[in-house]
Amino acid sequence: MSARPKKQKRGRVFLVGAGPGASDLITIRGADVLSRADVVIYDSLVSPELIRLAPPKAELIYAGKRGGSEKSIDQSELNAMLIAHAHKGRVVVRLKGGDPFIFGRGGEEAEALANAEVDFEVVPGITSAIAGPAFAGVPLTHREHGSFVAFVTGHEDENKSASSTVPWDELVAAARRGGTIVILMASARMRATLDRIRVAGLPPETPAVAVQWATTAAQKTVSATLATLADASAREGIGSPAVIVVGECAGLREHLKWVERTLLFGRTIVVTRSRESASEFATALGRLGAEVVEFPTIETAPPRSYAALDRAIKRIDNFDWIIFTSATGVESFIERLKSRGRDIRELGRASIAAIGPATAGRLADHALRVTAVPDEYRAEQIAPAIGLRRIRGKRFLIPRAEVAREALPEILRDKGAKEVVVAPAYRTVKPRGAQIERMRELIASRKIDLVTFTSSSTVTNFCEMIGVSGKGVRAAALGPITATTAEEHGFEVVVSPDKYTIEALAEAIRDYYAVARSRT
Ligand code: SAH
Repeated sequence: MSARPKKQKRGRVFLVGAGPGASDLITIRGADVLSRADVVIYDSLVSPELIRLAPPKAELIYAGKRGGSEKSIDQSELNAMLIAHAHKGRVVVRLKGGDPFIFGRGGEEAEALANAEVDFEVVPGITSAIAGPAFAGVPLTHREHGSFVAFVTGHEDENKSASSTVPWDELVAAARRGGTIVILMASARMRATLDRIRVAGLPPETPAVAVQWATTAAQKTVSATLATLADASAREGIGSPAVIVVGECAGLREHLKWVERTLLFGRTIVVTRSRESASEFATALGRLGAEVVEFPTIETAPPRSYAALDRAIKRIDNFDWIIFTSATGVESFIERLKSRGRDIRELGRASIAAIGPATAGRLADHALRVTAVPDEYRAEQIAPAIGLRRIRGKRFLIPRAEVAREALPEILRDKGAKEVVVAPAYRTVKPRGAQIERMRELIASRKIDLVTFTSSSTVTNFCEMIGVSGKGVRAAALGPITATTAEEHGFEVVVSPDKYTIEALAEAIRDYYAVARSRT
């Protein structure tokens, strides 16, 4: 038995591989552990999108490490920090680029934890040594071209002896008979490393590929030969972080390259909708090859007062219709209903209308059947969808955002509704802790290809948060009202689908760039 006091909760350290760069290349286990972290200690190559998977209350500690140039925490200090946080009984996630046990000192951290008798687990990640070649269109093994792979460092520990610790001569001798050499930390000493391989006897015409920022929108790939790769990379400005692949397999890239063929390759697209609702959209754009920057401009909060909604809930069986104009409206309404101790069956008398398929879908999730959805998803179209005959003399409840357009209640009253109750069920607010500086910089340096807006408030909040207009920036807007607001704020609206759903928006963005590409 350990001598540790019994009562104290035991901390635990998870050495988690964050994957090579793209935020959806972390494992499900890695994402799960991250969502339960008390402390996250992360490296510079970890995608900023991933850090956000940590709970809002988690302590985030940046450990640095980028080619040694910037300030970073010293390794022994870092080990001590892992141990100290674990001793406080906390769940510590040590989030490392790629796989924690492929270079990057994960092994040393594990040793320190083992020595200190701290419980730890390792969550493997997709190493850049595998993802880099994959995203360059290079299979690391192939029946005809390579029967083994070696992962090698191109940056040997300078504190160790001057002589190389990588057995280049033996490695190259084996590779000559059909093997692939993958070099990490390769960019600073690229020429020297490739020369060393040549001197060891690999033919100068052996195919070689360098890939920088693999799996991200900034990915850059150069194909050449062992003899020409250093010059070609210098010409293309390939720097850290880069992976180099040398061997016959690298020659397959010409035939198998695929990333450059994805439609949104090299495009950086901003998603401004709330984090709760953004992820599917962001994933769809990411799969098309875009670098997605999530910059939520709205967040859902409780309304300033629930009085109107509570009054309506008390007499819920008086209403003939309940109209929902957003999925968030559905969620907030049902939450409030539950918290008042009411039962969903009490809605039984009322028919339900939804503004569009996403809202209807959310209602269906709660087993609520929708009677009316307009063909065109705008508030003005709800009344015609319900049918004028079913409006006259009826009572309507509209649980919705605190601030919203008045068009719908006005139309209903105008068409003879007996009563229209508009009840704030939630409020949209600007999120705190947004990465405003980063966004300003991206906009100023023209790194953003497209900003996507899903409602007028995402436009106005975006401009207020960044403090600039949309002048010179392209935008995609969901629905004509959002498009008009974006134009009023100076954006050039280049995408505005006829159908007002997120899927339609993603498709319209894809089509826009498909046309742009076919013209070049
Ligand atoms: N544990 C990490 C490697 C850490 S060493 C892993 O498994 O990927 C850091 C080196 O990884 C960099 O110098 C570079 O060679 C490589 N690297 C990491 N991310 C990369 C990326 N997105 N594209 C290309 N190389 C990358």
